[in-house]
Amino acid sequence: MLSRIAIYIVVAMVALTANVGAQEQTAPEVADQYLNDAIKIKADSRVQDAFEHIVAIEPQSRRDLIELTEIPAPPFEEQVRAERFAEMLRESGLVDVSIDEVGNAVGKRPGRKSDRIIGYSAHLDTVFPAGTDVTVRFDDEKMYAPGIGDNTRGLVTVLGVLRAMEHANIETDADIWFIGNVGEEGLGDLRGVKHLFRDGAEKIDSLIAVDGGESSRIVYGGVGSHRYKVTFKGPGGHSWGAFGLANPHHAMGRAIRIFDENAPSVTTVGEKTSYNVGRMGGGTSINSIPFESWMEVDMRSGSQDKLDDIDAVLKAAVEQALQEENADRLDGPALTVEVARVGTRPAAQQESSEPLVQRSMAATLAFDIQPSLRISSTDSNLPISKGIPAVTMSRGGISGNSHSPDEWWQNDDGHIGIQIGLLTLLTEAGLAE
Ligand SMILES: [Zn+2]
Repeated sequence: MLSRIAIYIVVAMVALTANVGAQEQTAPEVADQYLNDAIKIKADSRVQDAFEHIVAIEPQSRRDLIELTEIPAPPFEEQVRAERFAEMLRESGLVDVSIDEVGNAVGKRPGRKSDRIIGYSAHLDTVFPAGTDVTVRFDDEKMYAPGIGDNTRGLVTVLGVLRAMEHANIETDADIWFIGNVGEEGLGDLRGVKHLFRDGAEKIDSLIAVDGGESSRIVYGGVGSHRYKVTFKGPGGHSWGAFGLANPHHAMGRAIRIFDENAPSVTTVGEKTSYNVGRMGGGTSINSIPFESWMEVDMRSGSQDKLDDIDAVLKAAVEQALQEENADRLDGPALTVEVARVGTRPAAQQESSEPLVQRSMAATLAFDIQPSLRISSTDSNLPISKGIPAVTMSRGGISGNSHSPDEWWQNDDGHIGIQIGLLTLLTEAGLAE
């Protein structure tokens, strides 16, 4: 095992990083100490017992997957699923289980030293709106239902790790919090993890999130986004009779032109950074000066500095457009503008030498699977952006068509994903002697 070549290509997600040559093609090594540690813990008799239990409870994991999948969990409506998941944490052996102010289900498993807290989480929410048929259908080996893979299977993986630890009486040095969190998808805007890692909260020292396909995949950094709704407002009036009033649509046109002209100073150099005006609206009729004009803007980058730069370009363009439109008006009051932030995902970067990243790679390698490091947009973004180590790992099994009504999951060696998760968690939390 030790003779394996512990060098891996970073597979940066092509769609996210294809543009500029600055993306890393580094080959991070797994240091011997982490590999040795993973191999030693994997060989421990209690851990072997836990691994066997993960296989033995597959019928139960299957029942859990069907039950949880069939409890709808649209964005901002995760409550019923959160309550059932909390109950399952109790049934699995945890005593201290609660649902916090934003709806996260959190079950605390004390460690022997209790000097650190390790979070082990999966998100509760799906992308599907209320009313979506979430009945599980079966076709051969595949199980079909919206949200069955992303991320209901993640919840089952968290439960599987907990059940195996309880069965094998495994104790850790650090406390472990088993978490089903809200708000990972879309406009949920990471509000679950934002709450867990808020200022003044009990400090979680590192996070292992379960969310993603192949067992080799480890997300260790994230693409961040800033999203705005920009609205110009004025009195509005008749297109002929009130001609000369400042026009919100005209101001918006100026803003987009200025933004589009100045943005390349950020987007054509360094790390990939994108911007997009995705939706626009306002106005009442062809012969009315509109009283408002709005647009929604999405900007993304893997670098927080670049994200802040493109953000500043947008705000300056909006301000300049406002001044120009007001200066050119012939009559009436000045336009005003509102720039409302409607989404924030911090960009997040961490070194592959970070111990948690090393441990997740070592645990994967201990199962003879070549780990591949990626950047993506997951719950890990948030802690990493605050300097707290985090990775997002596989839920086990294979899946497809995520975020579509034809989503499926198949138990193709699904236990291995759970076992790798357990091994990573034990190397991070410390197996108590
Ligand atoms: Zn997900």
